[in-house]
Amino acid sequence: MKVLVVGVGALGTEVIKTLVLLGVKDICLVDCDRIEMSNLSRQMFFRHDHIGLFKAETAATVLQKTWPWLRIEYRNSPVEELAVSFFEQFTIVVCSVDSVKTRRWLNSLIVGDLRKPLIEGGTEGLLGHARLIDSASACVECTIDFYPQTRQLPCGQYYQEEGANEPMASVCTTNAIIGAIMAKMLLDHSGSFVLYNGTEAVFMDSLKIDKRKDCFVCSYGNFTA
Ligand SMILES: [Zn+2]
Repeated sequence: MKVLVVGVGALGTEVIKTLVLLGVKDICLVDCDRIEMSNLSRQMFFRHDHIGLFKAETAATVLQKTWPWLRIEYRNSPVEELAVSFFEQFTIVVCSVDSVKTRRWLNSLIVGDLRKPLIEGGTEGLLGHARLIDSASACVECTIDFYPQTRQLPCGQYYQEEGANEPMASVCTTNAIIGAIMAKMLLDHSGSFVLYNGTEAVFMDSLKIDKRKDCFVCSYGNFTA
């Protein structure tokens, strides 16, 4: 199994850590951001002397030193700038970005064009969700109304969408819980939509959400994995 993780932030580092501990050995990390002081309190791979370095490259270096048997690669570029052929080598893709715009772009490519499964998750404060998108489940576009600060535009126009790239607040407990669920979904291929709410007590629910019959991303063809 060769896994691509897009987004090496607070949620992504939790997913990566759990995947490695569960025995996944072949991983590629993509993130164009550099490490800032504010990242250090919630991203376990990064130290003070990493400030200013790329997140993907630094996380890959730390992982390789800690677990020398890993086959780990990285790309320090925006995921949208990578060639389509790059994505074809992966068994499954994990989306742990904090941008709705990038999430929609990745869903369109991985689910719509390449017909591969996508693990998608997000957190906002004490709220979070995780799901595996495969041939039987609703994709990001089917459920676009679930996301904050976005509005639906016709296919191909959301690259110019304004206000859809706002960063979401990060709480380490929420990221740890959602990251662990995303890693578990990757290994056992469980396809439900998991919602987490930690605002008053811990509440979690698992939903089956139908695909939209007119979805321009997922309503046709078959998956390859
Ligand atoms: Zn869809």
